[in-house]
Amino acid sequence: MERVDSIITAGMVLPSPLTAPIHDGAVAIQNGLIVDVGPKEAVLSRYDAARLLNRPSSLLMPGLINCHTHAAMTIFRGMADDLPLKIWLEEHIFPAEAALTPELVELGTELACAEMIRSGTTSFVDMYLFEDVVASVVDRVGMRAWLGEGVFDFSTPAFKDGANALQETERLLNKWQGHERITITIDPHTPYTCREELWLKAMKLADRTGALLVTHLSETEWEVQEMKARVGRSPVAYLDSLSLLNERMLAAHCVALSHNDMELLTRRGVAVAHCPESNLKLASGVAPVPALLRMNGRVCLGTDGAASNNDLNMFGEMRTAALLHKGVGRDPVVMSAPDVFAMATLWAADALHRPDIGRCERDCRADLVILNMDMPHMTPCYNPLSQIVYAANGAEVSDVLVNGASLMENGRLLTIDEARLLSRVKQLCLN
Ligand SMILES: [Zn+2]
Repeated sequence: MERVDSIITAGMVLPSPLTAPIHDGAVAIQNGLIVDVGPKEAVLSRYDAARLLNRPSSLLMPGLINCHTHAAMTIFRGMADDLPLKIWLEEHIFPAEAALTPELVELGTELACAEMIRSGTTSFVDMYLFEDVVASVVDRVGMRAWLGEGVFDFSTPAFKDGANALQETERLLNKWQGHERITITIDPHTPYTCREELWLKAMKLADRTGALLVTHLSETEWEVQEMKARVGRSPVAYLDSLSLLNERMLAAHCVALSHNDMELLTRRGVAVAHCPESNLKLASGVAPVPALLRMNGRVCLGTDGAASNNDLNMFGEMRTAALLHKGVGRDPVVMSAPDVFAMATLWAADALHRPDIGRCERDCRADLVILNMDMPHMTPCYNPLSQIVYAANGAEVSDVLVNGASLMENGRLLTIDEARLLSRVKQLCLN
């Protein structure tokens, strides 16, 4: 018998969107790594575990990956809704952000982590301000994250200009280098909020360090018209003219795309973080994701910040992504449950260049989620993938592990004092 840290048994194990579920399955975990997956009897006969977790009425699956968010914006949730984008941004969000402090970012990030863990997310990609504080929260809470300080032409509460923000990015790259769960990214905010010089500096830093470039791209028709007026090209064509598009770029939104833009994105291997709920709420439109997929584009899924969603629930996002394109395209076949689940797991891992996450398979990191299937809306279960995408809402999540460590067990958060957190948020935000 080989000794391992833990074994989880479950009524059903779903290794990936490409693999058939294992009934009465089990997973063996050692040093944060999945060392075996298979039928329960086989795994139990091979390994002796220090810790055994039995979940006979549950489904064990890979943790969800939120590929675009601004975690700390949870503190602005519901503050200003049902407004035109310009008024929403300029009269509500920007003034609120002008008063941002590291303490508020810490609180908002912890709130976001609590919400994400509770709804089955194990990894997220974050662009915001005071990202060093975000990293400290992620380090303490135990999630996996890709974090980048927002780089703008103008000053933010964190930095006086973009050059300073890039210096901070370089400091963060050094400070968090080698961390098991935290990866620093380089985050020029958009083509219209960063001048050419900043983009080129960001690219240089990315080339030197191998870090991912994370940005917002072609979110609205307004952005396309603005860039055409300024530089005579679409935002996508503009970044391509600077040789910035490559497979190490993760671009959020990509709603307003021409056919040429789509060809550029797919040919250069840019990964697109589709954020359907935020695009709907801000009335930006619908990203042409089925077309990108037909062109073999790389697509993953994100919630965007809670001010424009208003939650960070990837189950809701998967369902919206699956339904939206069917309705808009009048085609019930597009955006199938396996494809949408892949966008939140396998394809997200590909966008992040991490083949060892997003799957519950041997030699992958043990980033796992357990869903209680003994609930009316999850019964009967003919097809677990359909259940996950079309019926689940996150309330089924009972246990969450990242890197083999439990962050939630039997519905209780283990690394966050939830009662204290919620009372601090109410006190700080509503007074
Ligand atoms: Zn965003």
